[in-house]
Amino acid sequence: MNHHHSFPKTLAAGLATVCLLGAQYACQADAPGQADAEEQMGAQQEAEGGEVHWSYEGATGADMWGGLDPSFAVCDTGVQQSPIDLAGAIPAGGGGLEIQWQPTHGEVVDNGHTIQVNMAEGNTITLEGRQFSMLQFHFHLPSEHTVEGGVYPMEVHFVHQSAEGDLAVVGVFMDAGQAHAATQAIWDAIPGVDEAPAPLAGIDPNAFLPEGRAYFRYAGSLTTPPCSEVVSWVVMTESIAVSQGQVDAFAALYPMNARPVQPLHRRFILLK
Ligand SMILES: [Zn+2]
Repeated sequence: MNHHHSFPKTLAAGLATVCLLGAQYACQADAPGQADAEEQMGAQQEAEGGEVHWSYEGATGADMWGGLDPSFAVCDTGVQQSPIDLAGAIPAGGGGLEIQWQPTHGEVVDNGHTIQVNMAEGNTITLEGRQFSMLQFHFHLPSEHTVEGGVYPMEVHFVHQSAEGDLAVVGVFMDAGQAHAATQAIWDAIPGVDEAPAPLAGIDPNAFLPEGRAYFRYAGSLTTPPCSEVVSWVVMTESIAVSQGQVDAFAALYPMNARPVQPLHRRFILLK
């Protein structure tokens, strides 16, 4: 799960950054005008001053994240890290998840770690009685979660936040098959790394949901620094199809942006 270039020093500030960069539409109370929003983003970048570079391979790769900055320590020391191999799930009956998504205005950004679609307000999920609002969704290649060791070509993460600030992420595996129109609409809009976000009218997140609504459920973390253990994970058991050409197009930008699976430790995985 990837949110933006770098997180600031504290989780609180980190979530504020998610708000600013991931969903400025959801933060209008703090940023009433576009100029103000831009000013705040500038201020945020300044506040991040000692921005910590991280990547997926080499000296700043996933095995090194915990040591890159004190605020990333939980990447190494945490016991509820994500992603994980989804194996040994305990059947727990259906239900517990209501998805209330609709076609919404978005904007596509290339944030240097992934392609991300920041979403306007209006998409919520209710997970075990708690409501979360979608901030953004983004893509990983290959999949971050695995299923009994099996890797999918890609995985999309829909990041939602509660009023209290914790996160619920819905993950959907993308397998190679027929072309996927909504994915193509996003790929066609991808701006350059240093270019302004590209508007995307009426993107429907429901287009990324498989027919079957069974899902894995477990408690985990951000899959990017600072690896905060604040995420209620939902990973749909059924995949959706994208074409090999669509996978290749993403791979041309991001050939590998998946964190390796992490130890389960004392957690349970539920199959709902
Ligand atoms: Zn992700």
